[in-house]
Amino acid sequence: MFASTLDTTIEFLKGVGPKRAELLQKELGIFTYDQLLNYFPFRYIDRTRFYKINELSPELPYVQILGRITGKEQIGEKHKKRIVARLTDETGSIELVWFQSLKWVDEHVMKGKVYIVFGKPTVFNGSFSISHPELESYPRPATITGNLRLQPVYNSTEKLKKFFLDSKGIQKLQTLLLEQHLFEVKETIPPYILEKYHMISRKESILNIHFPKDVALLKKAESRLKFEELFFIQLQLLYNKQLRELKFKGHLFPLVGERVNTFYNEILPFELTGAQKRVIKEIRMDTQRGIQMNRLVQGDVGSGKTAVALMSMLLANDNGYQACMMAPTEILARQHYESISSLLKDRLIKVSILTGSTTKKQRTQLHLALEAGEIDILVGTHALIEDKVVFKNLGLVVIDEQHRFGVEQRAKLWRKNIVPPHILVMTATPIPRTLAMTLYGDLDVSVIDELPVGRKPIETKHLFEGQRLRMFGFMKQEIAKGRQVYVVYPLIKESEKLDLLHLEAGIEQMSYQFPRPDYQISIVHGKMSNADKQYEMQQFIDGKSQIMVATTVIEVGVNVPNASVMIIENAERFGLSQLHQLRGRVGRGAEQSFCILMSGNKLSADGKLRLETMVKTSNGFEISEIDLQLRGPGDITGTQQSGVLELKLADLAKDQLILQEARNTVIELLTVDPHLELPENSLLKTYLAKRRRGIAFDKIS
Ligand code: ADP
Ligand code: MG
Repeated sequence: MFASTLDTTIEFLKGVGPKRAELLQKELGIFTYDQLLNYFPFRYIDRTRFYKINELSPELPYVQILGRITGKEQIGEKHKKRIVARLTDETGSIELVWFQSLKWVDEHVMKGKVYIVFGKPTVFNGSFSISHPELESYPRPATITGNLRLQPVYNSTEKLKKFFLDSKGIQKLQTLLLEQHLFEVKETIPPYILEKYHMISRKESILNIHFPKDVALLKKAESRLKFEELFFIQLQLLYNKQLRELKFKGHLFPLVGERVNTFYNEILPFELTGAQKRVIKEIRMDTQRGIQMNRLVQGDVGSGKTAVALMSMLLANDNGYQACMMAPTEILARQHYESISSLLKDRLIKVSILTGSTTKKQRTQLHLALEAGEIDILVGTHALIEDKVVFKNLGLVVIDEQHRFGVEQRAKLWRKNIVPPHILVMTATPIPRTLAMTLYGDLDVSVIDELPVGRKPIETKHLFEGQRLRMFGFMKQEIAKGRQVYVVYPLIKESEKLDLLHLEAGIEQMSYQFPRPDYQISIVHGKMSNADKQYEMQQFIDGKSQIMVATTVIEVGVNVPNASVMIIENAERFGLSQLHQLRGRVGRGAEQSFCILMSGNKLSADGKLRLETMVKTSNGFEISEIDLQLRGPGDITGTQQSGVLELKLADLAKDQLILQEARNTVIELLTVDPHLELPENSLLKTYLAKRRRGIAFDKIS
């Protein structure tokens, strides 16, 4: 294939040259013609609307006026020199003022001629003026970009502006490019798909995204380009998934043996919910297909993911494989370890734990036992993925609270065996469907959408600072009933010092309200040593303290069924998903549980909406959708995966339908043509081949 002219370096476009080319590269990452064409406006100015001069008001942003220049003079001296012109229409007149480029203005702005004037009106001494307006001669000359109705506005930077590459400057370059090279823009989506969804061609879309003929065409261009963006992400995810399934044989777990049976029939203290059973069935099917399982289990806090994980690990053991379970914090790992070992009481299997605080001596022993296959289930933190940790025969990896683990870390686990282990990823942060499809589009997804029976919904209240005494009273009342209480403070990096002060003040206040020896308070925060944390946690778990004052360390997974009150201080400063996570710490036992959101009196609109949402619903998926609307996808997932989500046009909060269409289209076409061998799909094959050469294949090992 010949290289397209669109691959030409931007330097060679008329009006660019080496200096501006360098700036475009540095500031906007634009190296080629093609990249410039794919640099889209972020908004448009409506230029179909003409204002009459007597309609002007200072609140108006940019306006367009059609009028005649009825006067023009140069006034002032030296740096105060300026040109003032009078623009008149049938309703009145205003002043136009220039302080710069006076020579050009003098030569080009002609008294007596009619112009289209564009700019922001300001009031000075009771009359309107526009400084440095844009002028176009009237009528507008025809160009490929047509009569501009919607003027594109491009993001620019200070440096670019110094070299006349403001929005207008970029617009000029785009005009030139489109006039000379539009015909070279190639289709990327097979025509049969375009037809199916009545989408316009790439050429038409590119033209109209920069210079829309009208609003309808702009919409069409946008949705076609969004579709394209999402379609190729899905194609890559799903094609890779398919490749991975072909490349990696998976371990087979056909046998439901003694361990699973004994556990299920004799040990498990409750009946599994329908949702838990369904997910276990899905996992069983995955592990009998001969391919590597990559499954994400989404389930709200308290939905019982641990039981699902444990059953799956026992299934691996029954089939002669080891399993491991990785948690994001030491506390959580320990809790998992303890609940598993207390359930099994060293019956059936051998369980061990490996974390950052495992001593060197213990470690050495553990490594040996692990390699000898003497350990069936290993629970731990990140320490598990270190290269030194070698299993005899690792068959299943469970990753709990997955949002804390990056793609890179996942991949590292896959490499722990020649045949990679099955992967079960569990998250209690319900992710909006669109995000899940994009971030985890290469995983199969199970949802535990049912809570164990008998759970009472948590009652949530929002109290303001002025109602603090009521809050203390309520705490006393619940503690008198034998309940325990969490009090959580925000601790955010950016404001860490101040937050720690708040925490200290809070602790002091609590100690005053809840004095010893009647009350015991445990304190846990991120600045403490692991041993201290452990001790304080244990006091609370054992019921020796009634109150736990903590920062968000307790966010994930901690399970103290007798704790039935969650108080969140400065609740307005937490994100929705964090609030939801925190609230999930209570409501685990038989008692009615409560969540009290304390906030200051002044709330931002977003803060107010967050607290209202928490009071109104406890459905994690509903909450995550609102969170997505409020924060956008990047923030929700944290920085780890943000690269995956750098979308140019599509918006995962708004374009759910397009995403669904794109994904369905890909699923359908890969079912019909898994290797993209049909001629009508050759475009797609080329695309994937290009991507493979160009981009690190970091999603698969
Ligand atoms: P999460 O999904 O948040 O990890 P856990 O697995 O920690 O939830 O379960 C929360 C609590 O519910 C635990 O105390 C667990 O023993 C209990 N539990 C789990 N499944 C059931 C069930 N089917 N019936 C009753 N209780 C259950
Ligand atoms: Mg859990």
